[in-house]
Amino acid sequence: METNLSISVLKGVGEKTKTYLNKLGIVTIDDLLHNYPRSYESFSKPLKIKDMVLDEMNSIEGSICASINQLAKNKIKITKTKVKDDTGLINIIWFNQLYIKNKLNSSEKFIFKGKVEYKYGQIQMLSPEIYSVDEYTKKTEALQPIYSLTKGLTQNNMNNFVKQGLLKTRNQLKEFLPLEIRTAHGFSEYNYSINQIHYPFNMKTYKEARKRLVFDEFLLFQMALLSLKTVKEQDSTDVIIKDDTGIKDILKSLPFELTKAQLRVWNEIKDDLYSNKVMNRLLQGDVGSGKTIIAALALALAAKNGYQGTIMVPTEVLAKQHYISLKNFLEPFNIRIGLLVGSMTLKEKKEMYNNIRNKEIDIIVGTHALIQEKVTYNNLGLVITDEQHRFGVKQRETLIQKGNNPHILVMSATPIPRTLALIVYGDLDVSIIDELPPNRQTIKTYAVDTSYRSRVYSFIEKEIQKGRQVYIICPMVEESEDLDLESVVEYTEKLKQSINGSIKISYLHGKMKGKEKNEIMEDFADNKIQVLVSTTVVEVGVNVPNATIMVIENSERFGLAQLHQLRGRVGRGEHQSFCILLTDTKNEKTKERLDVLSKHNNGFIISEYDLKLRGQGDLFGIRQHGLVEFKLGNVFEDIELLKLANSIAKKIYTKDPDLELEAHQILKQRLIHYIKSHYVV
Ligand code: ADP
Ligand code: MG
Repeated sequence: METNLSISVLKGVGEKTKTYLNKLGIVTIDDLLHNYPRSYESFSKPLKIKDMVLDEMNSIEGSICASINQLAKNKIKITKTKVKDDTGLINIIWFNQLYIKNKLNSSEKFIFKGKVEYKYGQIQMLSPEIYSVDEYTKKTEALQPIYSLTKGLTQNNMNNFVKQGLLKTRNQLKEFLPLEIRTAHGFSEYNYSINQIHYPFNMKTYKEARKRLVFDEFLLFQMALLSLKTVKEQDSTDVIIKDDTGIKDILKSLPFELTKAQLRVWNEIKDDLYSNKVMNRLLQGDVGSGKTIIAALALALAAKNGYQGTIMVPTEVLAKQHYISLKNFLEPFNIRIGLLVGSMTLKEKKEMYNNIRNKEIDIIVGTHALIQEKVTYNNLGLVITDEQHRFGVKQRETLIQKGNNPHILVMSATPIPRTLALIVYGDLDVSIIDELPPNRQTIKTYAVDTSYRSRVYSFIEKEIQKGRQVYIICPMVEESEDLDLESVVEYTEKLKQSINGSIKISYLHGKMKGKEKNEIMEDFADNKIQVLVSTTVVEVGVNVPNATIMVIENSERFGLAQLHQLRGRVGRGEHQSFCILLTDTKNEKTKERLDVLSKHNNGFIISEYDLKLRGQGDLFGIRQHGLVEFKLGNVFEDIELLKLANSIAKKIYTKDPDLELEAHQILKQRLIHYIKSHYVV
């Protein structure tokens, strides 16, 4: 059976209906059968009237035993009657469905399915659906599908089309999973699974079918990724990196030793750079895990081999900080570092453009200014982006285009569990720094209610007396920066009244001009400001080691991952640091969420909790990454199946790289179909 047949072969699908179905992504019968129900409705055996359950959906079998009255009340048209069986009698009422009357006659038995309520002193069934006994009995044989619809389509339409589709393809869908895999893991047969996902006999058969079809989705996805990846990995590069003699001296000069995790990651990166193939690597590490030095080493290696390298960061303050650290680390080794940011004067910029073009600079640190048209690199061999979630894929691409197949390293502190990283960044290899440098103090974290605020303030005063500094985060009031501004200013005023008047307080918010923001951040970094009241704009990697307290107001409004990022602003120096989460929430779930932060300091563990507590929908903006969405599968709940699919996909390719074996032919066809419909190739 050819399932690539157009849906137009179905009865009832004319030009108009075809466009409606196309809107749902349904073009062929195959698409129709893989358009799974959103949920199911069960049609259980009808109850006797005396056994009905109040406030629930009930089905009863009975006949009309009173006249059918139709009346209008405040523009609402009402149809009323009574139904009886051998155990009792019930009132039935419909709103605005005058045609109902034509369906009913008192000589026949019907099944009425609707919600039963006790109202105005009597029991009544509200707007029930009406079925003939035969019709209803058929529906009890399987769970009934409920599909996502679009304007112009009804559940009845969809049901009808799917039933036709199933009839046409009856037992003729080509099984594409090799028998070996099916038997080894107990996956049900393909035709059976497709039938059962639409009309499951019961929950058990539904679950079997779902398991099989979720696995299909994951397997095809993983196989597609792997096939695209091998193409990518073969990209060769002319950037020849061979010599790391200079690097050993740099490593020796550091005031610390690399952690085991840093060493491992550094070796992974070095292997990539030596390989003559383009590096395409994601470096993940919790805040403070020491990613900057790894970037510095990679840039130095490129420079020592005669290439320029660049590191792009999202803010000027961060660019300046990186510029200073790179200078400290690398200038003693005759590596020339340059800075390029928007706030530089035209003259300064022009000079920098010249230096870059003439290769008087080896490593360029900067913001978006790095991708301006006017910037021409001499021989760009390595491109690094820091805090990569802040950049769009486009910006990264533009920077890469400025080199000739340069190596790429993207760094991110947003922790995503490893298995998920495979999916989110399918096109990248992943390295993880899963260890903090030694002697790092854990940040003491407390969730308290606002009755503690004055105590929190006196604690702040004490720390400031010791010379430390403080961040206070006001929540975003609404999705409006104007209101944000108001709340930050107002909060700052109140704070000034409440704490020692000699303390220097300033504020920061998203509406400020870049220049103003930079000045304030710099003043804070120089300890000219002691308390910084801010919206979440401070989230991104600025380093002020002298800051030891992070107070977060209305902490219940933030996600765990974001709270963890914010907390990462403190605990960066030698002093014990604190994070205080203020909240008046009474919600147990929220309290549980905040509790996770008090107990854990590891971003990866926190991200796992975040997943569990919030579900995958919010997962660190995975949606923003344009990730493939699965129809049935849930990457969190079905993680075991995902892992299985990953390992089986690898096994299949290892055994049969070009899918030439007889047992893989139908799978290959299915995969090609999948790739064509999911990727532009
Ligand atoms: P992040 O991963 O958040 O970008 P940084 O690179 O800013 O972290 O590093 C945080 C701090 O830890 C810096 O002051 C850095 O010098 C220091 N650091 C990095 N690696 C080590 C190490 N192996 N031992 C001790 N301190 C380190
Ligand atoms: Mg960093």
